[in-house]
Amino acid sequence: MIPALETLNLVKRFGGFVATNDVSLSITQGARHALIGPNGAGKTTLINLLTGVLAPNGGQVLLGGEDITALPAHARVGRGLSRTFQINQLFGDFTPLDSMMLAIGERKGHGRIAWRPLSADREVADEAAALLERFRLADVMATATTLLPYGKQRLLEIALAIATRPKVLLLDEPAAGVPEEERHEVLGIVRELPADVTVVLIEHDMDLVFSFADRISVLVAGALFAEGTVGEISKDAQVKAIYLGEDA
Ligand code: ADP
Ligand code: MG
Repeated sequence: MIPALETLNLVKRFGGFVATNDVSLSITQGARHALIGPNGAGKTTLINLLTGVLAPNGGQVLLGGEDITALPAHARVGRGLSRTFQINQLFGDFTPLDSMMLAIGERKGHGRIAWRPLSADREVADEAAALLERFRLADVMATATTLLPYGKQRLLEIALAIATRPKVLLLDEPAAGVPEEERHEVLGIVRELPADVTVVLIEHDMDLVFSFADRISVLVAGALFAEGTVGEISKDAQVKAIYLGEDA
């Protein structure tokens, strides 16, 4: 079977510093794949290379077997590769309902045609309401996004990414910065993401990683250090040493 997402000998340098060191990674269709590693290991850089935010110095990115290395970020979203939106920058003044209708309208190719109010489109409105319901945002869908609790903002970011109907969804620490009492809701949504969407999750919470992932890749100093099932990685002495070393 063709992998959902693949990198071949990917390299990214910042000046003389190698942030991504010859990474060849294969993500199976429908996988729940976790990417872990100490701070500064190059996890976010790798996501930026996958989404087209950064251009690599070498190597390739393949989506469903097609080389997308030269495609700009928006074209990759169009092909089914999504990451969470940065709502703090993009959608802060909007309500979750506005944002969701825009995201769905864009996917349907409606664009932002001023004379055609999105609210007139029942299909879009119904889909938006259903998605907001599924992501536990129904009760706050008319509240300005900036006024929402942090956990709800994170849920909206994931919901907006799902609205683009991705084949592959990349989540970079979805619960980072979320207060403890709101974390379980965000992590619950991550666990319940649609089974047909391939998910790559970067996460520090090992309980979540081990309950979520079917496969784990460990990145250390820009390079792949280990890869395996949850059982294999959780028992790996060298991986343990890295995390214990970080905690100490
Ligand atoms: P992680 O997400 O695993 O914590 P990052 O990918 O954010 O790690 O960073 C990996 C390394 O690359 C770090 O040492 C970081 O300082 C460096 N780095 C990331 N982005 C840049 C950049 N734009 N310019 C220079 N160095 C960068
Ligand atoms: Mg990071």
